[in-house]
Amino acid sequence: MASRARRAARGRSTGVRSADDSTRVATFTLSGYRSSPTRGTVTVQAFDRRQRIRRSCTALGRWWGVALACVFIPVAHFVLVPSFLAYGLWQFAQRIRTAELARNARGICPDCGTEQQFELAARWPAPQTVTCSRCQRGLRLSVV
Ligand SMILES: [Zn+2]
Repeated sequence: MASRARRAARGRSTGVRSADDSTRVATFTLSGYRSSPTRGTVTVQAFDRRQRIRRSCTALGRWWGVALACVFIPVAHFVLVPSFLAYGLWQFAQRIRTAELARNARGICPDCGTEQQFELAARWPAPQTVTCSRCQRGLRLSVV
């Protein structure tokens, strides 16, 4: 009971947190050509070491499984099997380094005023550059 109250107090001070405490909603600013930046929100999921290892091994197993299935495809297996083995290793390396993953970034473009959902990089390095889907301008997304 005491830990729940402590977690709730921490959630109030650092933003909205979910029940499992690994997902939070962060606020960001969008800067464009105009001088007044706008704000938006993004859902950031954090992974601890164990979750990163599990995600990495899942990806590795999935792509190596696909490579194993491709062994039975004549001729194409000369290209498919090494490609999927290498892709599995690449996925493993990407996921083991991903400590935070950002999803559902919504905000208003400071240049044209369109509210939209932005495409983000797979990992969550901020600041990063996003593109407005309406005016096609590059916007700088930075965490508040
Ligand atoms: Zn725009």
